[in-house]
Amino acid sequence: MARDGGEGAATAWVARGARGRNNRGVTTSQFARQVVLPVLGREGQRTLGASRALVVGCGALGTHTAELLLRAGVENLTLVDRDLVEETNLHRVALFTPDDVGRPKAEAAADALRRIAPHAAITPVVAHLDPHLAETLVPNTDVVLDGLDNLEARYLINDACVKHGVPWVYTAVLATHGVTMPILPERGPCLRCLFPDPPPPGAIPTCAEAGILGPVPAALAAVQATTAIQLLTRSPDLVGGRLVRLDLWAGRAETTRVERAVDCPCCGKRRFEFLARPSRTSVLCGDGVQVLPRTRGNLDLDGLAARLAPLAKARVQGRVLVVSIEDAQLTVFPDGRALVKGVSDPDRAQTLYDRYIAR
Ligand SMILES: [Zn+2]
Repeated sequence: MARDGGEGAATAWVARGARGRNNRGVTTSQFARQVVLPVLGREGQRTLGASRALVVGCGALGTHTAELLLRAGVENLTLVDRDLVEETNLHRVALFTPDDVGRPKAEAAADALRRIAPHAAITPVVAHLDPHLAETLVPNTDVVLDGLDNLEARYLINDACVKHGVPWVYTAVLATHGVTMPILPERGPCLRCLFPDPPPPGAIPTCAEAGILGPVPAALAAVQATTAIQLLTRSPDLVGGRLVRLDLWAGRAETTRVERAVDCPCCGKRRFEFLARPSRTSVLCGDGVQVLPRTRGNLDLDGLAARLAPLAKARVQGRVLVVSIEDAQLTVFPDGRALVKGVSDPDRAQTLYDRYIAR
């Protein structure tokens, strides 16, 4: 334990997270109001400065969480998101401005965070979170934060974190409420102890259907970031399996205790099914489906645009190719993946992709 476990343990913890640490230390006045807190102190602040956080998803929840952690002193952040900033994001994402519409979310968020802390190590990763990426990033961080909009990706993160012994914070928001729970491998329940299997498609409304009140992700991000600070500083006040539910509209907060499931396929039997189950399609929160290429590689977008010209309206816009064809619009990225809008059926989206983009 970094704060109370003795010098050796504290040194080991700091050394583990030392990569990318800046040299500003804790003697500057920037963190004076935190250092004075008995629950944190100078050692806790120093530990935060030497820690690495991975934020998966750069919508409102992820970007609020990243900003709070950065301002609290966690200055080594990796941000993952596959999507582009859309106008419908602006009512709840503090880091984005109208000028960011059309930019990759991870890059727009990283630029905004660098303006807050120019010396910080901020790494944007514009990519779909697949098993390969999860297994690459998770072992190289100290905590994983949830900015996701779908359960499928959360099960993947849960598998990777339990497998590699990295703590993470599950957080989800919808309409006027949200839930959050710290997941401490070996010391508490995991996501599959709480929800053993994903719900069938359509069982949970998306944020496009149910809506999302602007302040809700900010509130849940504040709880999530606090939990991350407790995790990183090994606070004895942190309790695994503490599920917090906030309803901002009703002004209600509930805390329930989740127990570890002895027959949990993930943390009990250590079967990491979601790491072993790659899917080429995923339904997005909103309108559309993402389709991945069969094999990784770089697409020649200009060549593809020329090939599609007799069949469809196809134009390269910045770093993406936009194709309007049949009843759909495909936004194709250089890494081969595509966002298919106007289509809700994943199989139909994959058919369009295979028919026109990569045969
Ligand atoms: Zn479990």
